[in-house]
Amino acid sequence: MKCVRCGARASVRLRRHRTSFCEKCYTLYFERQVERAIEEFDMFRKDEKVLVAVSGGKDSMSLWNVLLEKGYRVIALHIDLGIGQYSRSSRGVVEKFAKEKGAELIVYDLKERYGKSLRTLIKERKKLVPCRICGTVKRYVMNRVALEHEVDCVVTAHTLDDCCAFLFASLLSWDLEQISRQDVLLDAGEGLVRKAKPLYRLTDEECRLYATINSIPFVHEKCPYSRGAISIQLKDMFDQLEKKIPSVKQQFYFGFLRRGKKAFQKNVKEASLVPCRICGMPTIEGRDLCFFCTLMRGEK
Ligand code: SF4
Ligand code: ZN
Repeated sequence: MKCVRCGARASVRLRRHRTSFCEKCYTLYFERQVERAIEEFDMFRKDEKVLVAVSGGKDSMSLWNVLLEKGYRVIALHIDLGIGQYSRSSRGVVEKFAKEKGAELIVYDLKERYGKSLRTLIKERKKLVPCRICGTVKRYVMNRVALEHEVDCVVTAHTLDDCCAFLFASLLSWDLEQISRQDVLLDAGEGLVRKAKPLYRLTDEECRLYATINSIPFVHEKCPYSRGAISIQLKDMFDQLEKKIPSVKQQFYFGFLRRGKKAFQKNVKEASLVPCRICGMPTIEGRDLCFFCTLMRGEK
């Protein structure tokens, strides 16, 4: 098996592209895919300030590394959610990497700032799925920090696997509003910073390979709340499908971006946003408080 680029002995095989790379050319391929996503959707420019959300996992650590290597003006944000050992390990990995690279990092400790960790929030709202609470917290904090630091774009490490799982989950419930909001680039709005997903062309496994080949540290433990999460089950389902139909993930998601998205967006009226009474961040018209403030106040 030879590297398709340089002819050296290949060590990485990408079935979905029916191609093989040596480690050096795989790194080039991976970084090119990130740049291609950024350029294709005009996500952000090199002179703009971007905030990259880093959990400490293989995907976000890989993305952070690419952005630094390619000379983007990047600030990393790590949210310490307070999920016991998992959070301690994640924070340790992120802080060590930032120090080694001399990279700018903001650590946002949820308990320190608001008096409640994610664990407490989950205990208080037993009827809600933990990942839903976590998603709200993360989106809120990312947007808030981005506004405070006047960044142009918030960048998240959602991979092709994540995008497929989210889209499929919204299709299962035919939540038209949610389907129409699925995108790799969300423009800025009143009180909302632009958001982009430059890893949408790459899979979880490809991120793991990039991180391993380039000795990028990442946390190997799994979040304890990921057990039984629907997104994980849907990712497994796509992995099984991909074994039988290589490139099915990209067919599904790229097809949606090219054709499906517009069809759904046409039929959905965008919800109007108003400022939350407590924090001033945007919330859906008709609601007094944003969901984050509702959670933090322990209201049902
Ligand atoms: Fe948050 Fe769920 Fe991910 Fe855990 S698995 S970090 S709760 S989104
Ligand atoms: Zn609020």
